Formats: sequence, C-alpha cells, structure tokens
Amino acid sequence: MRKFTYLVPKTLNEAISMHTSYDGRTRYIAGGTDVLVKLKEGKIGPDYLVSLKHIICQDQPFLNTETGELYIGAFMTHRSIERSSLVEHQYPILHDAVKNIGSVQIRNVATIGGNLVNAVPSADGAIPLIALDGKARIYGPKGDRLIDLARFFLGPGQCEIQGAEILTEIIIPRLEPRTGSAYIKHGRREAMELPMLGVGILLSLDPDMATCAKARICLGVAAPTPFRALAAEAYLRGKSVTEDSLTEAGKIAAGESRVRDSIRGVAWYRREMVGVLVKRMGLLALERARNMELNM
Ligand SMILES: Cc1cc2nc3c(=O)[nH]c(=O)nc-3n(C[C@H](O)[C@H](O)[C@H](O)COP(=O)(O)OP(=O)(O)OC[C@H]3O[C@@H](n4cnc5c(N)ncnc54)[C@H](O)[C@@H]3O)c2cc1C
Repeated sequence: MRKFTYLVPKTLNEAISMHTSYDGRTRYIAGGTDVLVKLKEGKIGPDYLVSLKHIICQDQPFLNTETGELYIGAFMTHRSIERSSLVEHQYPILHDAVKNIGSVQIRNVATIGGNLVNAVPSADGAIPLIALDGKARIYGPKGDRLIDLARFFLGPGQCEIQGAEILTEIIIPRLEPRTGSAYIKHGRREAMELPMLGVGILLSLDPDMATCAKARICLGVAAPTPFRALAAEAYLRGKSVTEDSLTEAGKIAAGESRVRDSIRGVAWYRREMVGVLVKRMGLLALERARNMELNM
C-alpha cells in the first residue's frame, strides 16, 4: 500500500483547509471501510488522508419535537443509528437498512455519510433516506447548502460532493400521520454482502387507514444510482392499498428499473424481484402504519 500522511482536524473548517491546501492529493476518511479497501487495491493513492472522525458532532439521531425534523449526523456510525430506539420505532425503513450493513464490526466504524458519499448503486443507507424525503447538508469553502437526497447521486461513485466539501448532516422532514415504511436488502445472504437489489417503501394513509395519501418507492441496484420509481408512486396515490394495487405498482416499478446483468444477479431475475419485493414491502409498510396507529 502506498504511504500517506494521516491528518486529524478537530473542526470542519480545519478539515476543509487541510483538504484545500493539498488539493488533488487528499481524501477524507470517516470509518475507512471503503477508503481502506480502495487504498489496498491501489484504486486510489492519496498523499494525505484527512480524518473526519475527531470532529465533534452529535452521536445519536435527534428529533426536533417542534418541527418534527429528524437530524442524523453524517459522521454517525450505522451501529449508533441501529441502536436508536427512535429510529427503530418511528423510522423502521432506516432501521431495516442499517441493521444489515456488513457485520457489527463494520457497523461500529462505518458511517452513514461515507455510505452516501461513496455513492455505489448498492448503498443500503441511501434508499431509506431518499424514501424519507431526506436532505443532505453539505458544508464547503463557500458555506452551507442543502440538497434533496433524491438528486444527490449523479452516477456510480459520483455524487454532489465536490472538492473539499463535507457532508455534515441528513435532515428528514416531519413524518406524515399514519405512515409505515419498510426496506429489504435482497441477495444470496443477508449480511456481509452488498445487495443484489434494495427495495424501500414508505406509505402514508388517509384517515380510513386504507387509501394511499403518499407513496415513496425507492430502488437500489436497479439503475446506475438509487432512484424513486415515480410512476409506481403516482399509480398508488389515491388508491386503496391492497395486494392487487401493490402487485400493479410492483409491475410498474419493474418497468421503471434499468437493471443489468452483474456478478450478483442477472437482469431478468432482478426485474422480476422488483415486482415481488415492492408488493412484499408495501404490505409490511401497510401493516406497520396500521400498528403504529393502534399504538398511539
Ligand atoms: C466487509 C464489508 C461489508 C460491507 N457491507 C456493506 C453493506 O452491506 N451495505 C452497504 O451499503 N455497504 C457495505 N459496505 C461498504 C461500507 O462499509 C459503507 O459504504 C460505509 O458506510 C462507508 O462508510 P465509511 O465511514 O467507512 O466511509 P469511508 O471509507 O471513510 O469513506 C467513503 C468515501 O466517502 C468519503 N467521505 C466519507 N465521509 C464523508 C463526509 N462526511 N463528507 C465527504 N466525504 C466523505 C471518503 O473520502 C470516501 O471517498 C461494506 C464494506 C465492507 C468492508
């Protein structure tokens, strides 16, 4: 492995100034679970690694009870999100996703920010956060900006983060009442493997607890970037959520996906599974919305 200098800034501004000083020869490192693999494989060879691990930040997802917004720090590990009872009970789609990332050893160090910035089509953290209408807060030499996570991914390995910019936070807007959500990572094994397909669904219901008021259907590894199946979402809106309507939504979502053959699965099988899993996750999201209402 090529030698590098490890820099440990204590603030965001210090990190940005280190990155800018050695422009082009630097990489940020958070948990290092993607960066170190690439370094060892010789895919990257920076002279400087600028650590983001020592910058002081919140270590638990935080709900602003006045605005209903959930704040998740980008340097938070998957494990700390998984262990949040707030996430487990109110944002089950996110809990479903983070609890199956790698192994517990990986989740103890790997961060949600690193997962998003690495920007692979199979990033498990991306799908639930897009389904939750999350926004990314990005801090850089020119200040702060917010961008919808649905527009964050530009292509495999490419995202909105440019140069010395740092992803600092993900903000989830207030959940609509009567909302349920679910995510499934589909592959040959549940853990220690990147998914062959990732499917996340969020459904908000009308007061009758049957009609869909809002739908989010997000797919991973079904196109070059994680994406929302907009036609399938539009189909469900205003309809009664049933096995039949979810089957139809699944077919539409399968038609919207741009799956391809890869080492982890062939395209026709992936497309077929989009339909199957949209229906399965839709039924789970419906059940969770109804249970949540019963327990309120
Ligand atoms: C054995 C193993 C199993 C895995 N299993 C899964 C899995 O099941 N699902 C899955 O989705 N992933 C999996 N991964 C991939 C990886 O663990 C995740 O993508 C992880 O969340 C990356 O976070 P990190 O903090 O380690 O990122 P790092 O490796 O530190 O960084 C990743 C990239 O993001 C940049 N970066 C990091 N944080 C920021 C930030 N805040 N602002 C700007 N740039 C930043 C870095 O410069 C780098 O380019 C696995 C990896 C391994 C090694």
